[in-house]
Amino acid sequence: MGDEGKLEHGDQAQEALGAVRHVEEATDAMTPFEAATYFFHRSADRLNMRDEVRAVLATSYRELAVQIPVKYEDGSIHVHRGYRVQHNGARGPYKGGIRYADSVDMDEVRALAALMTWKNGLIDVPYGGAKGGVHCDPTTMSHLEKERLTRRFTAMISYIIGVNRDIPAPDMGTDAQTMAWMMDEYGRKNGYTPGIVTGKPVELGGSPGREEATGRGVVICTKEAAKRKDMPFRDAAVAIQGFGNVGYWTAALAQEQGAKVVAVSDIRGGIYNADGLDVDTVLKHSRDAGSVQGYHDADDVSNQDVLELPCDILVPAAIHGVIRSDNASKIQARMIVEAANGPTTPTADEILVDRGITVVPDILANAGGVTVSYFEWVQNIQQFRWELEQVNFELKKRMTRATQQVFERAEANRTTLRDAAFDIGVGRVASAAEVRGYV
Ligand code: NAD
Repeated sequence: MGDEGKLEHGDQAQEALGAVRHVEEATDAMTPFEAATYFFHRSADRLNMRDEVRAVLATSYRELAVQIPVKYEDGSIHVHRGYRVQHNGARGPYKGGIRYADSVDMDEVRALAALMTWKNGLIDVPYGGAKGGVHCDPTTMSHLEKERLTRRFTAMISYIIGVNRDIPAPDMGTDAQTMAWMMDEYGRKNGYTPGIVTGKPVELGGSPGREEATGRGVVICTKEAAKRKDMPFRDAAVAIQGFGNVGYWTAALAQEQGAKVVAVSDIRGGIYNADGLDVDTVLKHSRDAGSVQGYHDADDVSNQDVLELPCDILVPAAIHGVIRSDNASKIQARMIVEAANGPTTPTADEILVDRGITVVPDILANAGGVTVSYFEWVQNIQQFRWELEQVNFELKKRMTRATQQVFERAEANRTTLRDAAFDIGVGRVASAAEVRGYV
């Protein structure tokens, strides 16, 4: 069969797994997977990628959708939809978080799985990319309902996960407790297997430093990027959208290292004080009040306002698609550090580039989480516990190296940081797929 035959086969594979073809013009209406694929195809063009390789990397390797009936405490039964997508495994076992949110659908999970592939390639951990999620609203569910949901979901996806196959971790709406239930449920059939998930509680084999790892990585990367851009980090005004695991730890560690956190927000809205917030007092308030809003030493602002406030560094750390063509021109920050996955639409990205705003892309900025997940998995396999100092030392080394590589590539090829990050990540995955003889 000649080239034509291979291409035809590639097209069919793409269609079956919902891939979008090359999109010439970006719009705000793109779905998360369309947006992720848009950046991938641009990178594939720059890398002169063969069509067969492009066809493989533009689609998921395997996609599983399951139904999860859960008996709620009031006796009602809710049937949730769950997903696990394995995007590409050329560089190692699949790896990626599990999200519980009412935005979760196959398209969102597919996008996040692909981003994991490029992120793992870029940060150079020996993993492929995956993601999972359940469509639900975890904020309205009881502890017991979340446990039932997690155990049922784990049983349903247990056929395709494994220590050397696919290793889940926490993401939005899930945490160390969720991972403990997953490990326990998986262990019922397979025996004690701590390496089946990462982000576990430390007493169950979790790694010291994993909880704060994504935020710590964001701060390491931000400081390195600021240095490269001749921006002082000390006293820099930082605004953060999202005050969950990533948002809180980014805020706490940025403050600890001398920056001034002027705004934070959660799903209900945000708070702003130009003189700086005391992050731990805000945390205490948000635990008591159920939101950061109403904090005594700041003004309440909307989630939209948080993005547009006067600040030096803006860190979106909540959901995708919040920086769009309608607000990109109003952003006052000089640097945007994408702690969330996919917070900037491709259209907004172009506006920010034109305005000369530095955008540190998600696949670089938030890679600290998967990096320490890798350390946790290594510790579980070797049954040997690292000290926190070693975890943080290795994290800093890898985040700094990846940030430097992205800046150097962007400067050498005169591209944006996002393009450079994609080119490194996508290029590594493509050559692994080829050298394995996969395509
Ligand atoms: P989380 O559930 O701990 O916190 C999410 C935060 O976002 C909360 O403060 C929530 O109130 C807020 N939020 C939710 N919906 C919102 C909305 N519509 N508008 C404004 N705020 C909203 O989640 P997390 O683990 O901190 O993840 C945040 C982001 O970081 C996600 O995009 C996730 O994919 C990404 N990320 C997380 C990790 C990790 O290790 N947890 C790693 C890499 C990337």
